[in-house]
Amino acid sequence: MTPFLLVLSSPSGVGKTTIARQLLERRADVGYSVSATTRAPRPGEEHGRSYWFLSEVEFEAEVQAGAFVEHARYNANRYGTLKREVERLFALGKHVVMDIEVEGARQVRRQVADAVFVFILPPSGAELVKRLGGRGTETSTVLKHRLAIANDELKAVTEYDYVVVNDDLERAIAQVAAILDAEGHRVSRHRGLAQQVEQIRREVAAAAMRLD
Ligand code: 5GP
Repeated sequence: MTPFLLVLSSPSGVGKTTIARQLLERRADVGYSVSATTRAPRPGEEHGRSYWFLSEVEFEAEVQAGAFVEHARYNANRYGTLKREVERLFALGKHVVMDIEVEGARQVRRQVADAVFVFILPPSGAELVKRLGGRGTETSTVLKHRLAIANDELKAVTEYDYVVVNDDLERAIAQVAAILDAEGHRVSRHRGLAQQVEQIRREVAAAAMRLD
């Protein structure tokens, strides 16, 4: 089967990163594309595992070198998917899961015809507000800004192929896995399908001949 890109988007706090990481842990046929970003690492984040943490200058150099499949600005920081990450995973025969915001997803859609786009929804607005308020340490201006971004991102849902509601993490992971499996069975993704079917037909025809 030909591996493909699976793009996961959602407002921040809905769990797409957790879903992507869990798929990676559970499935040998999935790889995670580690993005580049100019934002500072958060506690516990590792260079090369969570992100490739680049300076503005390094990031711009990658843009100029044409190193990105897509790149976008989010919250004053830059984020981008490196072509070499995607190529490395495809070379291993793995589907590539990307956790990216909606503008980057639009760029992927324009360029990669057979990519699959999944939007993760929170179970409710109240739950999203709770998750975005999170630690409760943010000022109301910061929180207001986050809520405005989330509301904007939610509008993009109709541009996606699939929607999964993350009201139960295990169920959401299973649903994204089911999408991966179903997409893998698309006729268009089967390399050598015509030859395989020809072989079966030859065997059937030969068996029919022997009946004469
Ligand atoms: P965070 O800073 O919270 O890790 O991520 C902020 C947003 O950037 C999230 O919506 C995340 O999905 C998105 N993001 C992460 N990596 C990429 C990327 O490579 N490209 C784009 N366009 N967005 C990304």
